[in-house]
Amino acid sequence: MARKAILPPAMLGILGGGQLGRMFTVAAKTMGYRVTVLDPDAHAPAADFADVHLCAAYNDPVALKQLADSCAAVTTEFENVNADSMRWLAQHVPVSPSGDCVAIAQDRILEKSWIRKAGLETAPYLALETVEDLNHDLSPYLPGILKTARLGYDGKGQVRVKTAEEARAAYADLGGQACVLEKMLPLVCEVSAIVTRTSAHESAVFPLAENRHAKGILDVSIVPAQVAPELAARAQQMAIQLAEALDYIGVLAVEFFVLEGDALVLNEIAPRPHNSGHYTIDACVTSQYEQQVRAMCHLHPGKPDLLSPVVMVNLLGDVWQDDGGEPNWEVLMQAPNAHLHLYGKKEARPGRKMGHYCVLANTAEDALAQAEAIK
Ligand code: ADP
Ligand code: MG
Repeated sequence: MARKAILPPAMLGILGGGQLGRMFTVAAKTMGYRVTVLDPDAHAPAADFADVHLCAAYNDPVALKQLADSCAAVTTEFENVNADSMRWLAQHVPVSPSGDCVAIAQDRILEKSWIRKAGLETAPYLALETVEDLNHDLSPYLPGILKTARLGYDGKGQVRVKTAEEARAAYADLGGQACVLEKMLPLVCEVSAIVTRTSAHESAVFPLAENRHAKGILDVSIVPAQVAPELAARAQQMAIQLAEALDYIGVLAVEFFVLEGDALVLNEIAPRPHNSGHYTIDACVTSQYEQQVRAMCHLHPGKPDLLSPVVMVNLLGDVWQDDGGEPNWEVLMQAPNAHLHLYGKKEARPGRKMGHYCVLANTAEDALAQAEAIK
C-alpha cells in the first residue's frame, strides 16, 4: 500500500553533511522542506544551508533522539555511518535506505555476495576474512587488487599485487583486516547507473555516465556515456535488478566495468547519490538529490531524462595547492555554458573534493573538449 506522502514544510534529517549532504539540503530546501544535518564537523558543507546542524558523532544517543523526535524521515549521504544508528532511528522514524542496505554497501565481501545473489556478475574475487584464507590458490585472482573490505574510498585501502607473495605481504601491510583479492580486469571503460526506487516500488534510472579516474579519484564524468545504446540499457536494467534484489528504497549508485565485447561487470555500489551523478543537477529534469527527497517522502520519482549532453569535472584540493594558485576563476566563472559548484570547504588538501563544474554542449564530445579547455 502506498505510504502517505511527507509534504513541505516537514523537517527531513540527513546523516552526514559533506558535499552530497549539501546538495541534498539545497534540493530539499528548494522544494520547501526543512533540513536537520547530523555531522561531527563544525564546518560541514551542508551546515551552510541546513535549518539545524547537530554537531555530534553519528552514534551520539542524544543527537539521534533529537533527529528521531524532530524529523518526518531520515536519510544518509555516506555509507560509513553506523548502520546500527540507522536501525535504531528506523524504530522511530522512516529511514531510507535501510540500515541493512547500508551495511551491505559498507562491506565489499557482503556487497559482492549480494551482487552475485542478484544474478549479476562481479570480477573474480576471493574473500580474505582471516589470514588462513591466504592459503587458497590465489592464482585465479592474479594479477589482482587487494582491497580492504571496509572503509575504502577513492582508491584508498587498495594495493595492486602481481604474485601470491606480494598479496600476502600487502595483506599484512593492511593490518591483517578482512579484504577481498580481486582479479585485475582489462577495462575498456567505466560507467555508472544511478537508480531511484521508492517505497511504492517504482524505479527511475538516470542516463549512464562514463567515468574517468585520475590517481584513483573520479576526474571526469561524460553523459551520455560513449557506449552502445544496448549496453547502456543493459546497465540501467542491471541497476534496477540489484535495487529490487536488495528491496532498496532511495538513491542507489551502481559502478560497472565495461570489458571487451561489451561485457558488463558490476564493480561496487553506493547507498546514496554519487559523484558521477552531480551532472543531474544541471542537465536532467530531476536531480539525484531531488530523487533522494522524493524517495524518502514517498513521492513518485521525478523524470530522470537528460536535457543536454554534459561533462562534469571534479575540482580537487590539488588545484589550490600545487602551484600555490587557485582555480582559473576568470575562465570558470565566465564560460557561459559552465556551471560551477563549490562545497564551501575551508581547507584545500590534495585529493579532497572541493567542488565541480559541469559543461553543457550540443554533443558529449563538444562538452568534453570545452570542459578540458577550462580545466
Ligand atoms: P573505491 O571504493 O576506491 O572507488 P573501486 O573498487 O571502485 O574502489 O576501485 C577504484 C578504481 O580502481 C576503479 O574505479 C577502477 O578504475 C580501478 N579498479 C578497481 N578494481 C579493479 C579491477 N578488478 N580491475 C581493474 N581495475 C580496477
Ligand atoms: Mg569506486
